[in-house]
Amino acid sequence: MMDTHDLEINEEIFSDLIDLLGELVKKRSVSLDGPNTEGMRACRDLLVMTLENLGATVKLLEVEHGPDAIYAEFNDFKEDDPTVLLYAHYDVQPVGDISEWTFDPFDSTIEHGRIFGRGASDDKSGIITHLGALQLLLSNTEALPCRIKILIEGEEELGSPHISEFLERHTELLRADGIVVADATHWDLGEPAITTSLRGVIDCEVRVKTLNLGRHSGEYGGAIPDALMALARIIGSLHNDDGSVAVQNLDSSQTNDIHVTESNLLAKAGAVSTLNLIGLGDVVSRIWTQPAISVLAIDAPTINEAVNLIVPKAAAKISMRIPPGQDPVSALLALKSHILESVPWGAQVEIVEGTISSPFKSGSSGKLMEAFQEGIQFAWGKLPREIGLGGSIPLVAEITKLFPEMDIVITGVGDPESRIHGPDESQDLLELRRNMIAEARALKAFGQL
Ligand SMILES: [Zn+2]
Repeated sequence: MMDTHDLEINEEIFSDLIDLLGELVKKRSVSLDGPNTEGMRACRDLLVMTLENLGATVKLLEVEHGPDAIYAEFNDFKEDDPTVLLYAHYDVQPVGDISEWTFDPFDSTIEHGRIFGRGASDDKSGIITHLGALQLLLSNTEALPCRIKILIEGEEELGSPHISEFLERHTELLRADGIVVADATHWDLGEPAITTSLRGVIDCEVRVKTLNLGRHSGEYGGAIPDALMALARIIGSLHNDDGSVAVQNLDSSQTNDIHVTESNLLAKAGAVSTLNLIGLGDVVSRIWTQPAISVLAIDAPTINEAVNLIVPKAAAKISMRIPPGQDPVSALLALKSHILESVPWGAQVEIVEGTISSPFKSGSSGKLMEAFQEGIQFAWGKLPREIGLGGSIPLVAEITKLFPEMDIVITGVGDPESRIHGPDESQDLLELRRNMIAEARALKAFGQL
């Protein structure tokens, strides 16, 4: 086995990697703005150049109507080496309300040991973790310990809408014994974690119509219902009074290994002081292993446009998180039939289906998982917690369908302070360094297992 000194990270290499992370953050790779924006292309090109400089053979894999995915491979491997696919994504979420940012989202600022900017953690630090681990291995050993493939996609923040056809088209290229998905978070600073369960997600648009045209509310109000009231009743029916999901026939389970108090979760979420949690049972199970419904948006006249008319049409986008074990198609059916049964006053309702993404549950065994447990123990001095993630990673659901035998390890990148998708997103640099060391160590151990 290795001695403890052989994967020390050299200061110069580390500071170059942080500079590279800063450069990546400066590239405005917001996939929602379009697949071919200057920021998307600049980010992609910088990654291609970096990977080529590391000695990889790089290919851009075209995604129809989407941004290119970056694929890279190191050719120096032995025939019987196990293959590991390293995954991350280079696109980022939009900025949101810029007035809530202290730092410029696209000018990486380093303060208090953290780097700030959109994508600083999610998922440009995921990319840097892979690059750092590889540099560490290349500078400390003669050859990489296993066959390494890299996939960095550009539309994860859109829900990877083309991922299943993409994986099908490139099945042979992406085939591997194990995959490292560096796109989740650790439990806390200094508290490493591996994510072993993900909720899936489905969504739909609910379009409600009560009239062909808006009618005067003085003339018809009291007898003719407006579409917005009807929509509000449908939305109201989705939860019970305690805030638990009212849709029937959905899977749901309790977790019992990790506890979070109600007050902790309220504080972490930045809730107003009067707020109560919704739902039933253990707090962690409400966000990891139970279904959850959110109203994402409503189309209706804005207050500025309001006139005394009965609103004829209104629509809402409803999203449902589904727990591990739940079949997404039957969850969508359950949601649709609940909505249709809740329509008041004979309003007309049309439901347009959107995203369907499966949940995920991994085994805690497997050689790659074992190797990461060892790597994390080495980098942090403690074993990782096994945690769930309330969100989903579309690639994970799809790749398990394609390669049921693949050993999947979802590693942490940021921590709860990282404010992923929020204002002042950031990444702790010490944790990033530990990520690299843990991954390098894990890949080395995996090659030896
Ligand atoms: Zn991400």
